[in-house]
Amino acid sequence: MSGTVLLLSQALLYFATMATLFRMRDRLGLGPFLCVLGVMHFLETYLAAVFFIELPFGLISPGSTVLFAGKLAIILLFYIREDAETVRQPIYGLLIGNFLMVALVTTLRIAGPPPVPLPGYNPDLVLIDQMGALMIWGTTLLFIDAIALILLYEKLRSFLRRSIVLRACVTLAVILTFDQIFFFIGLRVVTAPPFDALPGGWIAKIGAAVVYSALIGLYLAFFEKNAPCVAPQAVSDIFNKLTYRQKYEELLGRTSRDALTGALTRERFETLGPAILRHNGAAGRPVSLAVLDVDHFKSINDRYGHVTGDEVLQRVVECVRSEIRAEDFVFRYGGEEFVILWENMTHAAALTSAERMRQSLHRILAREFEAAPTVSIGVATFPDDAATIRELVAHADGHLYEAKRQGRDRVIGNHAVSAEYDA
Ligand code: GH3
Ligand code: MG
Ligand code: MG
Repeated sequence: MSGTVLLLSQALLYFATMATLFRMRDRLGLGPFLCVLGVMHFLETYLAAVFFIELPFGLISPGSTVLFAGKLAIILLFYIREDAETVRQPIYGLLIGNFLMVALVTTLRIAGPPPVPLPGYNPDLVLIDQMGALMIWGTTLLFIDAIALILLYEKLRSFLRRSIVLRACVTLAVILTFDQIFFFIGLRVVTAPPFDALPGGWIAKIGAAVVYSALIGLYLAFFEKNAPCVAPQAVSDIFNKLTYRQKYEELLGRTSRDALTGALTRERFETLGPAILRHNGAAGRPVSLAVLDVDHFKSINDRYGHVTGDEVLQRVVECVRSEIRAEDFVFRYGGEEFVILWENMTHAAALTSAERMRQSLHRILAREFEAAPTVSIGVATFPDDAATIRELVAHADGHLYEAKRQGRDRVIGNHAVSAEYDA
């Protein structure tokens, strides 16, 4: 089989398999797709070190070209269909996995040549050494390649707005050229391949860029024609996402709300809570937290039905909202339990605010519901009461328990609540 036919059939087989797994991500999840991506990376490194393929006109290509270019094409397709937050996962996974592999191989080498337990099974230590060195170099380059790939694709959006295929092709060609030059420098140092492999590998990679971008175009045209592509964003925002540096403000902005009450979800609390403490802790600002629980809620459900119970919960959140600032947060923590977070708020101020909230709830709920529901609230403040969000909730929960014990319909914190708002 001629070298060109060999490379082309490999490219088709690789892309078809990866695209199929990607297409089935709704049913299978992304796991199989990502695992295959990682496994192929290992074969690619092996081929880069030991395998050269003859092309027409006396050119020679490293055996890894197809897999390497294919991986970048698949990462690009992944980005086009998903977003920067999803695509950064395999980029970092490949980086960490490869460094781990090199570290493990290094421990083998430090341990010295292994005894040969079976005749004829001699490990190829030269290959292992070459792979280790190439792996570090290739891995670092791949990381830069992958990030540059996505940024360049976005940069080209304004010039090549119409054609995704053309934009993908130019992007892949530029990144693969960059990679070819720098990877070859590494290859020269480690395995001293013939110089012909530089232009040969480059031509093979450009060929791969053309083939893969055409395949991306076919995939999008046939399989995900109507699904919206990733929305245009500022390149700096994408860079921040790819490097896990997205802004704190952006993290705050993303919503995932509880369907019944519109409060932020418990899941949101789990990610947002620690970020808020970190952010304010670094700035030396206090954060106050309240746990609010509706009193005897079960009996409201039992007496007036779940529909009324649901309406009470909705009203509770509306009233809480009207008592906090726009930048404060209210989460539905459990069934009829809510967590309120005030950034940059002292314990005393939070107690006053919680007390005003309790009274306003009392007034409004009594007017609107025959059951006249009340609430109990426990308050705690970071960093004085707790260093972590989990401890802060536990501290406030202790106060809530005390409020229940003392007869409900009250606010408890570290010190007495001022009664100035009592009706
Ligand atoms: P306490 O004063 O001690 O807090 O008593 P309680 O009855 O409020 O406490 P408990 O935790 O025993 O009851 C909470 C009830 O909330 C039980 C559950 O059926 C109800 N609940 C949880 N989620 C919802 C919901 O979404 N809608 C309705 N209507 N009820 C809910
Ligand atoms: Mg309750
Ligand atoms: Mg409860």
